[in-house]
Amino acid sequence: MNLSKLSSVVADSATLKINAKANALKKQGLPLIHLGGGEPEYPAPKAAVEAILAKAKTEKIKYSPTTGTVDLKEAVIKYTKDNYGKTVEAQNIIISSGAKQAIYNFLLAAVNPGDEVVFPVPYWVSYPEMVTMVSGVPVPVKPANGLKVTLDEVKAKITPKTKAVMVNSPSNPSGMIFDEAFIKGIVETCEEKGIFLLMDDIYNKLVFGGAECPVAFKYAKNADNLVVINGVSKLYGLTGLRIGWAVSENKDLIAAMGRMQAQTTSCNCDISEAAAAAVLNGDQSVVTDLKAQLEENRNALMQELKQIKDVGVTVPEGTFYTLVDFRAYGKNSMELAQFLLEKALVAVVPGDAFGLDGYARISYCASKNNVVEGARRIRWALDKTS
Ligand code: PLP
Repeated sequence: MNLSKLSSVVADSATLKINAKANALKKQGLPLIHLGGGEPEYPAPKAAVEAILAKAKTEKIKYSPTTGTVDLKEAVIKYTKDNYGKTVEAQNIIISSGAKQAIYNFLLAAVNPGDEVVFPVPYWVSYPEMVTMVSGVPVPVKPANGLKVTLDEVKAKITPKTKAVMVNSPSNPSGMIFDEAFIKGIVETCEEKGIFLLMDDIYNKLVFGGAECPVAFKYAKNADNLVVINGVSKLYGLTGLRIGWAVSENKDLIAAMGRMQAQTTSCNCDISEAAAAAVLNGDQSVVTDLKAQLEENRNALMQELKQIKDVGVTVPEGTFYTLVDFRAYGKNSMELAQFLLEKALVAVVPGDAFGLDGYARISYCASKNNVVEGARRIRWALDKTS
């Protein structure tokens, strides 16, 4: 049977490929260290666990309202006020099965075939694939220097065919934050050009050393073109709940995203919605604790990486990833990731999945011991090659 053309162009997830190899090595009993993951290892917050148990005890596990429960939307209204100083209503919000579905709903609702969607390199692996899946044209913008594109570099890629710009800050995979001048500039540019701006803020509270993420809403004069994405996966380590959301002043856009969701997944898992509302309304010391642990891990990892000969290290300002420049070792990203897996028994994600060949993404959301030991093994393996 012939499969769709789309099925042959949408790439397999690079993370999943490395994971499969890593798991095979683990099965052989080898002491593998996994620094490729995109989720904190720590246990779920108690508030989430209690809400899940309480919901199960009601013996009512049913379809919930398509765009999210009243309770969770109220929690998101509060979150948006507390974190962005922005007042929104229920019709400005759609809850989805993860931030990923919220982004995909946006693309389904906004992009026509052939429309261009511009985003900085390095990018989150799913952006180009999702744009392709809605028959749009992905337009990645490579920085001439370092790991952060400039406003001018992004502006240069905006054409009459551009429908949207997507910005993820701090960035998965680099951990870099786009500064105020960039965010203000991109908000103004998208307003002037009449194109959508999607801010993927999924890591915006996981920032270190007093750093802050500039808030796009602050600069928006007419926020109808702006959509902001968030979720509980990263902030509370609740990747398995599959709860994320989009907020926009543009109620027509949110309603259109709701129609996409209604015809694909119908609604979210109502147990997950109860748990997400509970963590958002619950004790936020879980976030403070997670941030403190991640910052400690980041600092320990940086110390180790800086001792490796000929690698380019940029200190991440947030997230739980860093993108390391291994180009001096003359391997492409996949060769390098495979080499590190086989020789050092350390799993990392190849940089070409994020648009930068010769780099690798290293996660520091594993235990501190594993993060440090993993970096030491990488140094040991690379030392032997030179
Ligand atoms: N956006 C970015 C930049 C991410 O890194 C991820 C997950 O890795 C997501 C969105 C999706 O998160 P969720 O688990 O809420 O679907």
